[in-house]
Amino acid sequence: MNVADRATAGFRQRYGAEPAGRWAAPGRVNLIGEHTDYNDGFVLPFALPLRTVVAAAPAPDGRWTVWSELDDEPVEFGAAEADEPGRVDGWAAYVAGVVWALRADGHDVPGARLAVASDVPVGSGLSSSAAIESAVLAALVDLGGLDLPAGRWPRLAQRAENDYVGAPTGIMDQSAVIRGRAGHALFLDCRTEEVEQIPFDLDGAGLAVLVIDSRAPHRHADGEYAARRKSCEQAAATLGVTALRDVDVTDLDAALARLDDDETRRRVRHVVTENQRVLDTVALLRAGRVRDTGPLLTASHASMRDDFEITVPEIDTAVEAALSAGAYGARMTGGGFGGCVLALVDAGAADAVAAAVTEAYAERGFTAPGTLTVLPAGGVTRL
Ligand code: ADP
Ligand code: MG
Repeated sequence: MNVADRATAGFRQRYGAEPAGRWAAPGRVNLIGEHTDYNDGFVLPFALPLRTVVAAAPAPDGRWTVWSELDDEPVEFGAAEADEPGRVDGWAAYVAGVVWALRADGHDVPGARLAVASDVPVGSGLSSSAAIESAVLAALVDLGGLDLPAGRWPRLAQRAENDYVGAPTGIMDQSAVIRGRAGHALFLDCRTEEVEQIPFDLDGAGLAVLVIDSRAPHRHADGEYAARRKSCEQAAATLGVTALRDVDVTDLDAALARLDDDETRRRVRHVVTENQRVLDTVALLRAGRVRDTGPLLTASHASMRDDFEITVPEIDTAVEAALSAGAYGARMTGGGFGGCVLALVDAGAADAVAAAVTEAYAERGFTAPGTLTVLPAGGVTRL
């Protein structure tokens, strides 16, 4: 059964009624721009063809009941629980968080019954969290006829995750999931939050992106993330700039000369060059030179591996195997220490590249990777 039908079937089975509608939101992957977000820099994500679907109908008692196919039992809560971050925990917090964020923004959120089905892998770095938040947000806005311009949705969904769930994420995931457009990547300036749709016509170029789930266990990811962030902030302070985004790549050598330890210098070099790689990728895509972005992806990976030191053996293996099998470029995507790799490939070669990565994994005794071939898809929508 496809994901939309599973949401409908789940709704009927749980609630013995028909849903009033179905809303779908995609996962996302970041094409390039890693650890640039909290340095006020640039990112370039796109929405995936994998989606989370929410079937929903109003509930006259003004409460919220949500069922997900990931769990046996539905979770029910009212306004009192929604108004206090932490009262609803576990996966349903992502739903309660959206109710909370809408109520905190002054909206009269309708009670609802919801059933959630998803094809977005959970916890792999493809943003199943933003997908569920955004699909629930779209459902509640429509069911309640709420006056909330689409431009404000990403910030609201982000607040659900930051302030109710308690996960400190940036604005990228929700922006990509909500604003994604088929055949495009979303160029996001994390300082100004300005976005621009950049043509990313893989299909027209005979290309595809192979997404490889490394299945690597996340090793100390939280602590390492905090350490990277701190080093970037301290370096910015030493250099007398608001954020590392303010260091231009043409001034990089001079900036590095003012830093006194090698590790900090490498951290800074990653962020400054990565911002420039995002800008260069955008310029190539604007010129329709999709294939030529490959070397930038691979350079991004080398920078994450050698300068930012956030890759792990499974990830480096996947990148090397994809490149050896003919990928135009490959890199880890996401915060690091696990998660996914993406590779730019000829559409007809995607299966062979996937097989080569799987074989390289087997040779090293790693748990087999997940592989998925994608084209940039559209953002949240009512079905
Ligand atoms: P990612 O966003 O990379 O998939 P996160 O840890 O940010 O990983 O979010 C995953 C969490 O989001 C899950 O553990 C779960 O709590 C929630 N979630 C995502 N999708 C669903 C779903 N379909 N049903 C229930 N909860 C979900
Ligand atoms: Mg997430």
